Amino acid sequence: MAERVVIIGSGPAGWASAIYTARANLNPLVFEGAITEDNRIAGTLPLGQLALTTEVENYPGFPAGNMEEYLDRSIAEDKRAMMPPHSKHGVSGPELMELMRQQAVNFGTRIVTDDITKVDFSRHPFVLHPSEGGQIEALAVIVATGARANYLGLPSEDAYKNRGVSACAVCDGALPRFRNKPLVVVGGGDSAVEEATYLSKFSSRVFMVHRRDELRASKIMAERALNDPKIEMVWNSQVDEVLGDDKLGVTAVRLKSTKGSDTKTLDASGLFLAIGHTPNTAFLGGQLALTDKKYIKWTVPFRTNTTVEGVFAAGDVADDYYRQAITAAGSGCMAALDAERWLAGKGLH
Ligand code: NAP
Repeated sequence: MAERVVIIGSGPAGWASAIYTARANLNPLVFEGAITEDNRIAGTLPLGQLALTTEVENYPGFPAGNMEEYLDRSIAEDKRAMMPPHSKHGVSGPELMELMRQQAVNFGTRIVTDDITKVDFSRHPFVLHPSEGGQIEALAVIVATGARANYLGLPSEDAYKNRGVSACAVCDGALPRFRNKPLVVVGGGDSAVEEATYLSKFSSRVFMVHRRDELRASKIMAERALNDPKIEMVWNSQVDEVLGDDKLGVTAVRLKSTKGSDTKTLDASGLFLAIGHTPNTAFLGGQLALTDKKYIKWTVPFRTNTTVEGVFAAGDVADDYYRQAITAAGSGCMAALDAERWLAGKGLH
């Protein structure tokens, strides 16, 4: 028998969709992603990008404080045992995601720890193919597979992820390790300007390292960076290696000129990448219309509809603009309500 709603993805959008569809008695099935080395390297393990961050200080409802007892009571023991120690700074990304997952489970959500690698939206019920084989039929589908931040791909960058290397200044910029220290931002687009401007509030100085001698960012954003006395542009340069040690994490960044063979080292306690994101849409095989940046196209203003009736999209997989946990969760709720109403309209609820 076909599932009524299948949700693909397990970030804030996926769990919000699950909580709402479960409470609407749609008995949702979530494919939360597979725990594989390939997914680890790609940054696409279950629980999404938030599971890769530390403190989350901007998700409403979680002010600073010790949540140890709350976490012990709220999350299943086996899941709790797998989590990193609680830092006593309010909620962390992995904690928030386990709380959302548990909330979905509490309302009866069923979860499969596997990837969907192929879909067939040309027939209804839709057909989904998990990586472990077999196939699932679904009357409605919510795609919430998120996006992954692009990294440079250096081994030293990988070694210092979460110890000074980050792709989200809004998530990590205010951490004590970055306060009043020099920081490096890589990229020349609006995101890089935004990250550098944000970081300039906390750091002693921000070096914006760009591979060309002209910013890609919009004029107004570019001027903001160029006129900020705490931001120093480093043109025609690429990061060659991230330097650091086990105790301090990142301590410096070695740069290579893109115009010649010059190298130089910048002391910095953080490296922030702002070189774009890649949405996780390849498994859709072109069956939903995508934007030119390969994000799923929402087809109706203020709705989560896609170009296939009965398939909805939520979170970063369809949003390259806000990209926040709270906006992803919000659009997950919207997708659940859109799916519920669509099913009811078709007499399939
Ligand atoms: P983006 O515009 O694609 O810029 C990416 C930047 O990273 C470019 O400057 C690019 O250099 C650089 N880059 C890419 N790969 C690199 C690599 N391997 N090594 C070094 N540098 C690399 O991406 P974005 O800044 O994330 O912006 C995405 C979209 O969101 C844009 O449409 C943007 O306008 C929008 N956005 C808007 C705002 C706002 O208005 N407040 C804020 C954020 C984002 P090149 O320039 O040489 O290609």
